[in-house]
Amino acid sequence: MGRIYNFSSGPAVLPLPVLEKARDQLVDFEGCGMSIMEMSHRGKIFDRIIKEAEANTRDILSISDDYSILFLPGGASQQFAMVPLNLLTPGSSADYVHTGSWAGKAIKEAQIVGKVNVIWDGKDGNYMAGPDIASLPFTKGAAYVHITSNETIGGMRFTEFPRTEAPLVADMSSDIMSRPLDVSQFGIIYAGMQKNLGPSGNALVILRKDLAERCPDTVNYFFRYKTHMPEPSLYNTPNTWAVYVYKLVTDWVKENGGVAAMEKRNIAKAQRVYDVLDASAFWKPCADKNSRSIMNITWRLETEDLEKKFIQEAAAAGLDGLKGHRSVGGLRASIYNAFPEDGITALVEFMREFEKKNG
Ligand SMILES: *Cc1c(COP(=O)(O)O)cnc(C)c1O
Repeated sequence: MGRIYNFSSGPAVLPLPVLEKARDQLVDFEGCGMSIMEMSHRGKIFDRIIKEAEANTRDILSISDDYSILFLPGGASQQFAMVPLNLLTPGSSADYVHTGSWAGKAIKEAQIVGKVNVIWDGKDGNYMAGPDIASLPFTKGAAYVHITSNETIGGMRFTEFPRTEAPLVADMSSDIMSRPLDVSQFGIIYAGMQKNLGPSGNALVILRKDLAERCPDTVNYFFRYKTHMPEPSLYNTPNTWAVYVYKLVTDWVKENGGVAAMEKRNIAKAQRVYDVLDASAFWKPCADKNSRSIMNITWRLETEDLEKKFIQEAAAAGLDGLKGHRSVGGLRASIYNAFPEDGITALVEFMREFEKKNG
């Protein structure tokens, strides 16, 4: 079996045991004679799977019954629109923290719906550092505050989250379940599944139930959170396969010690790469030291030609997906929960060799 080391930013590497289990159950799920993809989303089997998916989520992140857990289509991008459609009611305004590409997209969607206060913008620092959360100028009476916990493209993250008076809304697409967090600090957490959770095209939404009541009647039923809450995620036919794989991924997270163990492992993995990047001026790490992501590590080399060479030779050595996002260039190693330690060893060894030959 030829598995490469997959540093893709998303869709991204999944735990091998999850893929193997999904393969084994693909054609005939537990002897029922059909695939998960072929059965009713209202049948007994899928009902059990979606309930386990929800229970795993509550268990892993210690989520109380004040919150709904939804699996919605459209990935994180649809949540960029759904959050303001539901919460940015006429006459109100929302605070957004602009930390990079993904925050920028969330802001653009919100601006179509209502008044947006960009209370912090990392533009001057090229979006390589985060704000000092203690001095963020929140707007009194804002409908909510929106942050992007980890900027997948820039490679920066919030190491801590602000405590806000208004509900805190977070796009956690690229670091959900990579570290412990206090869900009660948030009004809404959403995440596209394809980085740490499962297949693309869907989002996990963790939503404080009372917030769903704010949605104006001018919003189409489908885009109201409250439409999806009574029978969770079954208003439309959900992506049953994605929910199933998500359930397997969250089983894996639990079996491997939960988010505390994930964080410990993630910090250790990231540190090994940052240690190489910090060891000589040959490497030019992008993100500010205090804001470095432990999921997406970004760096540059002296010239674009050298970066091209790095990507090519790395790919030839079985290290795939190290090219930076097309909007910023450079190099990026995405090392989500499921990325294995021996892949880090392979990368670090490759980097040392590359430096020897080209430094
Ligand atoms: C990948 C990503 C998105 C976009 O997710 P889609 O599922 O493609 O909509 C949004 N925000 C962040 C932080 C991401 O990493």
